[in-house]
Amino acid sequence: MTDQQHIYLDYAATCPVDPAVLQHMLPFFTEHFGNAASRTHAFGWEAEEAVSRARAQVAAVIGADAKEIAFTSGATEANNLALKGVAEFLKDKGNHVITVVTEHKAILDTGKHLERNGAEVTYLSVGSDGLVSMQALADAIRPETVLVSVMFANNETGVVQPIAEIGALCRSKGIMFHTDAVQAYGKVPIDVNEMNIDLMSISAHKIYGPKGVGALYVRRRRPRVRIAPQIHGGGHERGNRSGTLNVPGIVGFGAAAELAKTSMAQEAARTLELREHLRTRLEAEIPDTIVNGSLEQRLPGTLNVSFAYVEGESLLMGLKGIAVSSGSACTSASLEPSYVLKAMGLDDELAHSSLRISVGRFTTRAELDSVADRIRDQVERLRAMSPLWEMVQEGIDLKSIEWAHH
Ligand SMILES: *Cc1c(COP(=O)(O)O)cnc(C)c1O
Repeated sequence: MTDQQHIYLDYAATCPVDPAVLQHMLPFFTEHFGNAASRTHAFGWEAEEAVSRARAQVAAVIGADAKEIAFTSGATEANNLALKGVAEFLKDKGNHVITVVTEHKAILDTGKHLERNGAEVTYLSVGSDGLVSMQALADAIRPETVLVSVMFANNETGVVQPIAEIGALCRSKGIMFHTDAVQAYGKVPIDVNEMNIDLMSISAHKIYGPKGVGALYVRRRRPRVRIAPQIHGGGHERGNRSGTLNVPGIVGFGAAAELAKTSMAQEAARTLELREHLRTRLEAEIPDTIVNGSLEQRLPGTLNVSFAYVEGESLLMGLKGIAVSSGSACTSASLEPSYVLKAMGLDDELAHSSLRISVGRFTTRAELDSVADRIRDQVERLRAMSPLWEMVQEGIDLKSIEWAHH
């Protein structure tokens, strides 16, 4: 996706609404504007029918039943509802929750909140490939563990966790399993039954739907999962989440989900090919290019790379007009190196020099070729000015140097 001066390669942050999705939404702003909770007239019935359709469309992508989808304002809310909802409902059963250090802030900050309210939270570490260890997870489980929350795919690296294995372990121990599947939903096959997933957070705007709408999948059978609602007022969404439904947004979510389902195989193959084209060009043309995270266990469209001996901020400045992110999109304003990459063992310098490049439905090979050229030229320019790079080229081992500290 390109306008005059910009190339968009930040699909993991958000996507444009697909024009076909927008067409489905438009009538629900003006013509079919009814409240889906109005039971006494056709305006309400029409809205309710559209919401039901969307619920089925969203559920079908993950092998769920429509009744198991609770619409929310997005995945941040869905993550809050899952963690707080389970912790509160099961507080008499146990107070221990397990999650991972590389989760999205919507999980980590909610975990902090649970801790302030007396829960115990274990944050599992990850390997240099970004993956959690099944052994570490098994070892962390205690009799009072009520919930395990592990993201399906990481938003910064695209690394995909062993979700089916984690689901099987949790099910065998009778522990609820939640996954933040925002990045994976509609991109890779997911089956909540085969994978023993009890709760799942998803978001419309990461699959070419509108911003401000998402959902929590809540398993209803084998076992029936109960959560305590966090927003009260009318008992919408089977009591899980009150509030007048965002009908146009939900219709858009449904249309986006259906599009994602029908085009998944083809789009995954296309985005993988594009990503691999970019990766192989960068690795071939720029020495000391480091791909962050497992290359095998990874979403098709996401690449995270670091360039040794290059200062990250200067690199981004040199890439004006190319929309990529460095570190985490949510925390990059703070200039803190990415906590996800640091958890994978990267030092501050490499974490700082990282770029997340995420391709999507409207990305072209020509765009990636021009971006590869630009990145190569900028890295070369910055390294030409770097005394460290010069020393490395002369064969000096930087680790052997005693730096004078002032
Ligand atoms: C984008 C994202 C979220 C937040 O979703 P919103 O719908 O924007 O609130 C949560 N988790 C992950 C992994 C994400 O990528």
